Formats: sequence, structure tokens, C-alpha cells
Amino acid sequence: IEFEHCGFPATLGGNLKKAGYEAPTPVQMQMVPVGLSGRDAIVSADTGSGKTVAFLLPVVVRAMEKPAHSVSSPVALILTPTRELAIQIERQAKELVMGIPNMRTALLVGGMPLPQQLHRLKSSIKIIIATPGRLLEILKQKAVQLDKVKVVVVDEVDTMLKMGFQQQVLEVLEEVPEEHQTLLVSATIPTGTEELAARLVRDPVRIAI
Ligand code: AMP
Repeated sequence: IEFEHCGFPATLGGNLKKAGYEAPTPVQMQMVPVGLSGRDAIVSADTGSGKTVAFLLPVVVRAMEKPAHSVSSPVALILTPTRELAIQIERQAKELVMGIPNMRTALLVGGMPLPQQLHRLKSSIKIIIATPGRLLEILKQKAVQLDKVKVVVVDEVDTMLKMGFQQQVLEVLEEVPEEHQTLLVSATIPTGTEELAARLVRDPVRIAI
């Protein structure tokens, strides 16, 4: 199977090609259809498996759906534990959304100046890529609203737990409407992860790579 034959919107398909992605990796093969279906998922996949594109592809397609297309507040939220991961995710997201109208991303992470991030939020943002602490800080300032979010990705759930971000993740998700899709991604699914997962997903599809 090749991306060309997957029926993605033309610009997105072209961007995959430009990025040099011809065929989906195993995690993409399994995760993209589930992501597009709107169901929740718990995915165990390591860095290097292509997991980032696996969650970004459905996120981008769902962010392009009407009526969200005309909504000016974010429809997708990607939470990740570290600044470095967030930067990588945003870089790959930008590659995928290039040339798609009204599909701006915002990187909201600690360790980088807050004023620039607040300024970015003054324009219409469709996809937020954030670390939990900085996003909470921004939410407290009411500089962004998550009430239109319909897809949430929690990346590297195991690292989130190790770094003690569980409470912050739950606090952020209180700002998201009850009806939303959640994709959880983790290298391993240790016991603590199962507990957090149970609070975040509903009737999830499980994918193990
Ligand atoms: P990740 O597992 O998300 O950290 O991705 C690992 C690397 O694989 C990244 O550098 C991606 O650019 C690359 N990649 C993701 N999907 C594909 C694909 N379908 N074909 C080739 N390379 C890919």
C-alpha cells in the first residue's frame, strides 16, 4: 500500500510525497484508520516507528473537516512531555499542513519566551502542540480556549508519568469538551499508564507495534 492510494486530500497527499513518505509504516497503517474513524486509541509505539506522522495524519484530516474548517479556535491539541519533542512534532506538522488554508499551528512549551507564544495565539490557530505546564499557565491567563477541541493526542504517556505530569494533563483536559477523541501514545504501557489511560479514553482500540 502507498499513501498515494489512501484518498487523502490532494495537498496533504502532495506534502507526504514532498516529505519523502511513500508508504505508511506499520504503526501508521494501523493507527491512521482508527484516528480517522474518530475512535479513541491506546497505542504502544517507540520513537522511530513513525508514530508522530501516525497521529498527525488523522489530526490534520479531522482539523480540515467542516464546520471546524471555519472555526477560529483550536480543534486539535497535542500534549507531549518535553520541549524537544514538541519542536519535532511541530516541525513534522508544518511539513504536513503546508499549503492547506487556515491550518496554523502553535507551539506552547516551557523554556521558551511566553510573550511570543501569547502573540501567536492572537491569530487563528487550528492545532496546538504543547507541554502541560506552559499550556496551563496560558490557560490561566485565558489567552487560549480549548472549547472547540475535538481531537486530543497525549504523546509519550510513560514519560509524562515519569516526569510527574499526570495531574497537569488531567487539569488541561478539563478545559476540553466532554465529547472528544483521545489518542494515547506510549513506548510502553506500564501499570500507572493503564490507570491514567482509563481516565482519558473511552472504549479504546488498542494498537501494539
Ligand atoms: P517518529 O517515530 O515519529 O519519531 O518518526 C521517525 C522518523 O521517521 C521521522 O524522522 C519521520 O520523518 C520518519 N517517517 C515517518 N513516517 C514515515 C514514512 N511513512 N516513510 C518514511 N519515513 C517516515
